[in-house]
Amino acid sequence: MTQTKIVATLGPVSESPAVIRALIEAGADIFRINFSHGSAEAHRRMAKTVRAVAAEMGREVALLGDIAGPRIRCGDIAPEPTPLETGSVVILTPDDFIGSSALIPISYERLHEDVKVGDTIACDDGRIRLTVEAVEERKVICRVVEGGLLASRKGVNLPDSALQIGAITPADERSIALAASEHFDFLGLSFVGSAADVLLARDLVRQCGGQMALIAKIERRRAVEHLNEIVEASDGVMVARGDLGVELPIEQVPLVQKQILRACNEHAKPAITATQMLESMIQNQRPTRAEVTDIANAILDGTDAVMLSGETAVGRYPVEAVRAMDRVARAADQALDRRRWLHPESPMRDNDSAVAHAAVELAHHLKLDAIVCLTEGGSTPRRIARHRPTCPILAGSANVGTLRRLMLCWGVEPVDLPELAGKTSAVQSGNMELWVGHMARLCLRAAGITGPRRVVVVAGLPLGEPGITNFVHVAVIGEESP
Ligand code: PGA
Ligand code: MN
Repeated sequence: MTQTKIVATLGPVSESPAVIRALIEAGADIFRINFSHGSAEAHRRMAKTVRAVAAEMGREVALLGDIAGPRIRCGDIAPEPTPLETGSVVILTPDDFIGSSALIPISYERLHEDVKVGDTIACDDGRIRLTVEAVEERKVICRVVEGGLLASRKGVNLPDSALQIGAITPADERSIALAASEHFDFLGLSFVGSAADVLLARDLVRQCGGQMALIAKIERRRAVEHLNEIVEASDGVMVARGDLGVELPIEQVPLVQKQILRACNEHAKPAITATQMLESMIQNQRPTRAEVTDIANAILDGTDAVMLSGETAVGRYPVEAVRAMDRVARAADQALDRRRWLHPESPMRDNDSAVAHAAVELAHHLKLDAIVCLTEGGSTPRRIARHRPTCPILAGSANVGTLRRLMLCWGVEPVDLPELAGKTSAVQSGNMELWVGHMARLCLRAAGITGPRRVVVVAGLPLGEPGITNFVHVAVIGEESP
């Protein structure tokens, strides 16, 4: 098992039980279902297949549902694709009709209100670029700065414009309800711009009775500007380099990636680095040197997880792509600069972080065999993982949802520990040290680690309350019951 987690997007080439099984065997920890493509029935079917295959294999895997968010698109165009010549004039308008190279329909009703003269409009992943020259009523008159062939329904980015568009569309609300009813573990929030957007999603998830952790996708300039508040409001983030590279000058992407990873580590929130990590493997059986280096560098910079999109959804070599990622991750995991992570630049913010840090220091100096976290909501193992310890991080919990949501955190091995649920009476009636030793022993055993072991147990007391890390205890776990 790699310590860096691998997220694989499902699609037409990978939705069968046989391929899902092969992807899990190759090292996939989390499957992403992209609600931007395919029908609700297909999404539901994929989720059920993943759960069935995982159960059959006796393995835990997590599900990430990625909502489309307020993605703006052009409408239908004929003939398709239509050339937009560099230097020509094209008019964009928020109406529904069949477009041409002179007049293009756009799916955003307030387009003409939100753009101003001089703004850039980028189409089809930034391949085509326009500049707004004038706005006349509903008509946005643009000059084609970089021309190309435009097809129907391609994405449109407005990196310079302040949009009045809501963060969650009616289609997203339906996706959230589906994700909740299929017990997804994570929800990817596309195009968020502020903490308020994340809180809005949290309300909707709660209303649907969902248990999904919220992963804010950082893919707009506005999101980068509000990075810290978004990291605080969410349960993790995604460095969504695809749209980020359209919304920002592309040379900013590697720098912003480092900035996002640093912010996540500081807040002990997991980060996913996404998009084009093994892009050439959509066609080829082997990755390029540059791609392999990109994956390794993301890990060395502190990403918790690396993601595959088209590679596993529509590519020719989905299983080989996960296998390649797994090999690269293994090597990079071993090469992490332990001193840097043990002593991060930012000071410990609070007691909880300081206690977790102390536990990792103990494990390091005493050369302990494992760090055993006893956790309710998962914050203790997250605070441990940010220091990238060399020994295993076991996260024992009686909360199955927490265990699945921890699958995104670097190095964390979730361990089902139903015995923790009966903690109150055990702690009240007996010797605390004895009880902690007993829990640690059960945790090691459940993780398949046997024989005498020296471990540090770290927890938040009282145990049923999430968010606390205030207890550290070094224990020697023998063969005999402690
Ligand atoms: P997407 O998000 O694949 O849903 O667009 C990721 C990205 O933009 O990089
Ligand atoms: Mn995106």
